[in-house]
Amino acid sequence: MSITNNLQSIKESLPDHVTLVAVSKTKPVSDLIQAYEAGQRIFGENKIQEMADKWEQMPKDIQWHMIGHVQTNKVKFMAPFVSLIHGVDSLKLLQEINKQALKNNRIIDCLLQIYIAEEESKFGLDEAELTSLLSSNEFEDLKNIRIVGLMGMATFTDNKDQIKKEFTQLKTIFEKTKALTISNCQLETLSMGMSGDYQLAIECGSTMVRIGSSIFGGRN
Ligand SMILES: *Cc1c(COP(=O)(O)O)cnc(C)c1O
Repeated sequence: MSITNNLQSIKESLPDHVTLVAVSKTKPVSDLIQAYEAGQRIFGENKIQEMADKWEQMPKDIQWHMIGHVQTNKVKFMAPFVSLIHGVDSLKLLQEINKQALKNNRIIDCLLQIYIAEEESKFGLDEAELTSLLSSNEFEDLKNIRIVGLMGMATFTDNKDQIKKEFTQLKTIFEKTKALTISNCQLETLSMGMSGDYQLAIECGSTMVRIGSSIFGGRN
């Protein structure tokens, strides 16, 4: 199947309220152009330098999402153009994003990454850390960032019950956080689901799926 066909069939399978992020990490610009020509305008990358290189080469009506773990010292390279940062998991990182957003005279939308998997290696905040971050005075001071949702990754397993349990847990945290009244935190987006588990994620309440290999093919 071609990129165009893959994209078409995935888009047809998504409900209207679910946004598709085409995860193009490691793929050449020629592949991204095919997806662009098929109508895709949201692309996800996990390395800041690679995303900045592609941003320079691609049409300017694309929304670039940073989906990977962000190193504080590299935020400045994406601050002029990034449209959503998915993997934010510390106050320190938020403060740097806020600083760079201010320099660029903009407000940068972010998702907070929540730790739901059983694996040790995945990044993210637990529910208690989320609550304490959002209620801190330091957070309130950040006028150039806006938390627009949460993001999470389930354990890499074939056990559907476990994945479902983890996604449901994230959905519950999302609904609780959504009910809070905080000026720079208005939740709309729940980013969960990748090629292998996005249907299940949507059943559990996802509003944004990040799909790479099912569109562009496997990565090395
Ligand atoms: C690579 C990646 C994806 C896409 O994974 P696929 O299995 O190729 O769909 C989604 N989310 C994050 C955070 C990723 O790093």
